[in-house]
Formats: sequence, structure tokens, C-alpha cells
Amino acid sequence: MRVTETLPPLGEPARAYLEGGPIGHWIDGGRVESASGATLSVHDPATADQICEVAEGGAAEVDAAVAAARGAFVNGWRDLAPHRRAGLIYALADQIKQNLQELAELESLDNGKPIAYARGDVLASVAHLRYFAGWPTKIEGATLPVSAPDTLCYTRREPIGVCGQIIPWNFPLLMAAWKIAPALASGCTIVLKPAEQTPLTALRLGELAQQAGIPDGVINVVAGAGATGAALVDHPDVNKIAFTGSTAVGREIAAKCGAALKRVTLELGGKSPNIILPDADLEVAVKGAFRAIYFNSGQACNAGSRLFVPAANFDSVIEQLATRAATTKLGHGLDSTTELGPLVSAEQRQRVLGYIEAGKADGAEVVVGGTANAEAGDGYFVAPTVFSGADDSMSIVREEIFGPVLVALPYESIEEVATRANDTEYGLAAGVWTRDISNAHRLAAKLDAGSVYINCWGVGDPSAPFGGFKASGIGREMGAQNLDAYLETKSVWAKL
Ligand code: ADP
Repeated sequence: MRVTETLPPLGEPARAYLEGGPIGHWIDGGRVESASGATLSVHDPATADQICEVAEGGAAEVDAAVAAARGAFVNGWRDLAPHRRAGLIYALADQIKQNLQELAELESLDNGKPIAYARGDVLASVAHLRYFAGWPTKIEGATLPVSAPDTLCYTRREPIGVCGQIIPWNFPLLMAAWKIAPALASGCTIVLKPAEQTPLTALRLGELAQQAGIPDGVINVVAGAGATGAALVDHPDVNKIAFTGSTAVGREIAAKCGAALKRVTLELGGKSPNIILPDADLEVAVKGAFRAIYFNSGQACNAGSRLFVPAANFDSVIEQLATRAATTKLGHGLDSTTELGPLVSAEQRQRVLGYIEAGKADGAEVVVGGTANAEAGDGYFVAPTVFSGADDSMSIVREEIFGPVLVALPYESIEEVATRANDTEYGLAAGVWTRDISNAHRLAAKLDAGSVYINCWGVGDPSAPFGGFKASGIGREMGAQNLDAYLETKSVWAKL
């Protein structure tokens, strides 16, 4: 097995973890290889070199993980004293924090993101777990004012059971934290399936949970691709599915969960409008718009991929964006001078380049970028790209590209821009840049989006719900609303 030679070299903990591979699933508190012996190859997206291999799970591993999760649910986790459950979730957050550098290095190497951002993801995961650690002691039912005489009626909030959680490759550890935290807090148990491209940090989570004292079987991690995820969705003993990923797969999962009447939450794609109003501080808006699309190399479901600019400011905004894009340093995530990493895979790069070609063929103009970065060798880089001259019917305006591709669109009036911003099947996020407080809040109310950012983009907090209108999903991640997604309500009636 070859561990990528990187600059600077990996720290000892990350190196030892990779060299101990192939890395097995984490089932019932131990590392497990696949019964079939199947493995997946994991690549460094900046070089295309193999980093290591991990086990690839099939129906047998999903079955074993679900059985372990059911056992842990029935035999204690759901009934554990709330303050103990809280303490164990805090302890897991502490374990993650103590292993910050190792996890950040693994994440950067696996996904390609700059190490500083990977560290940010690890710390955000810690914050997420700590927020939800506060919940077990505050899950309350109600006493109801029923009209029947001599009757007591109250509600209990009970954990749903075994949860299958399927996550994508863009924020591998953070998405795992988003999923497991509310499940743990509510008393559910978990079978987590990380994305096939980026399984490393999620697989490491199993060990950290054990070190934190979380009972074996509460968190199980099965690595694998789409078929492994499908086996989890299809498993009859899974009570709830939580999925973050593409809208196409989300639709498929929603249909299956509908037929089986499984609980389901879906956090899906976006084509989010970012609107600069004529009175905005242009320098701040341009900087914000740049970050809104190129953060994580555009691989964020809430990327601000449609930038609406007043026609009068269009040329100046485009020029500023192009200058920034042309001077952004692409490179290996572990190089601390890198500003933008590669895309996650050759497949993703191909997909993004395909959209760029489609945009050009439709008649839109590439202002900057538009190519794979020629100096990048075999890495999966795409230069930050800005399109102008597009119309609202083109695929680069309508479809989620999930890469560093911005389409800038001029507009004339606020009424027009609100209508065009909402003219999409998606509804995940939207942004408004203005100094006019009334216009800001009027637009915030009009935009069909689960999150609206005013003079900022992509900010979040574990307490603030995140999710989509329309084809961007069902339900919400984060906040009290996400806790509700892991609880059933039971009404108890007693004749006195
Ligand atoms: P992307 O196209 O960006 O890779 P996907 O929606 O395909 O996004 O993948 C997100 C997650 O869903 C990954 O963990 C992937 O393995 C999983 N997945 C893909 N196809 C299916 C499926 N049919 N059923 C369940 N999970 C799936």
C-alpha cells in the first residue's frame, strides 16, 4: 500500500491510521472486514494517488450493523439516564477535539480541502455535538387539557429506533456529526454510511465513540458505495433514514421510504441565488459572492451559484470577480498556502467540465477559468470559473454543477430579480447584499429558500435549522427541529 508523500508530511497518528489499512467497517465496537473481502480504493484528489483501501460493505455488513444497532437500542441506549447520554455525547466531542490535527489531516487528504478549512470542519463537528449534548435532559412531553372527565392524558417523546444515515463527500466529518448528534441525543442508534470517496474520518469516529465510553453498537459505520446505501434504505429493521446528497438519489430514497413508511429526512441539492442590490457595498458583496461560490471548490449544497448583479454594475462586478479568480492559488490541501483544493474525484471533475462545455455550446461566455488546471498534473482540479452572457434557460443556470462555476446574471428591477431567483426547482439558500434594511427583509420573505443570508453567506450554527424548500429536501438538519426528526410522540391516556 502506498501512502501519498505530501508536503508537509502527515503527522504520525494519521500516517499510522492509513498504514494500518485496509480499514474495516466499525460494527458493534470493532473493526470488521467485509465477508466478501471486497475493498474500495481511496484516492488523494490532488494527485490521484491511492491513499489506502477500506472495506466495501454489502448486505451482510449492513445486516450485522443494523442488528448491532438494534441490540444497543433495546439493551440500554434508549433508556440511559438523559444526563448520562448527554455526558457521553460531550465526551465524544472532546475525543474529536483531542484528535483535531489527525482528523483534519485525514479530511484534507481524503477530500482535498485546504487544511485550515478541514480544521474548521472538525471544530464545527465538536460544536455540533456539544449543542446536541444539551438536549437529552430537555426532551419534554406535555400534559394535555383533554375534555374527558377523570382522565389524564400526557405525551412522551420517544426515540424512533435504528437510524440509517447516508452522507456525502463534501464535508465528510461534519456531515457525520450533523447526522449522529441529534440521533444520539434522542436515544436512537445509528448505522452510518459515509461516501465511497471519503470514508476515512467517519470510520475513525467509531473508535473515538468507543474511547468516549459510548456503548458498542450505538454507532456503527459501514463503508461502501451506492449499493451499500441502498441496502441500508431497504433494510426492514431500519426505522428512519437521514440522507444528504444529490436530489436524484434523494428522490429514489424518498420513494422507497414512502412505500415502507419509514421516517425520512433529506438534505439535497441547490442552485442558490445570490442577489447584489444596487445600494450594496460592492467590495463587500464581491468578496462575499466569491466565497459563496468557491468555498470548498464549489462543492457545497448551498453554494451561491447564480449571482444576480444590477445591470449598471455588471461589468465592474465581473471584472473584480475575474481578478480574484485568476489570482487564487490552487493546490494540495495539506499545503498551507493553498486557497482552493481540487474536486473530490475524476468523475466530479468530468461532470463539472461537462457543464462548462454545455454552457459554452449554449452561447454563454467564459470570463475566467473554464478548464482543468493544466499545471495540476493528475489531480482533479478545475480553475475557478465565471460565466456571463447566460440566459435563465441554460443548463448552467438551471442545474446544480457542484463545482467552482459561477454564472453572473444582470437584472433591472427588484421585482424581476425576486421572480427569477425563485425560478428554480431548488430552494436551499439565497443571499441579499444591500444597505437597505427594508429591501433586505422584503426580499428575505419573498425568496423560496430554507436559509436566507443578508450581507453574508453560508453562516450557520448548530441551533439554526438548515434545509430546503422544494426539491432541496424534506425536513431540517440542525436545531430543535432536527431533534424532532428522531422522536415519535406517544399520547398516554389514563382513566383515574
Ligand atoms: P454525488 O452524486 O454527489 O456523489 P450521491 O447522492 O450519489 O451524490 O451520494 C451521496 C451518498 O449517497 C453517498 O454516500 C452515496 O454512496 C450514497 N448513495 C448513492 N446512491 C445511493 C442509493 N441508490 N441509495 C442509497 N444511497 C446511495
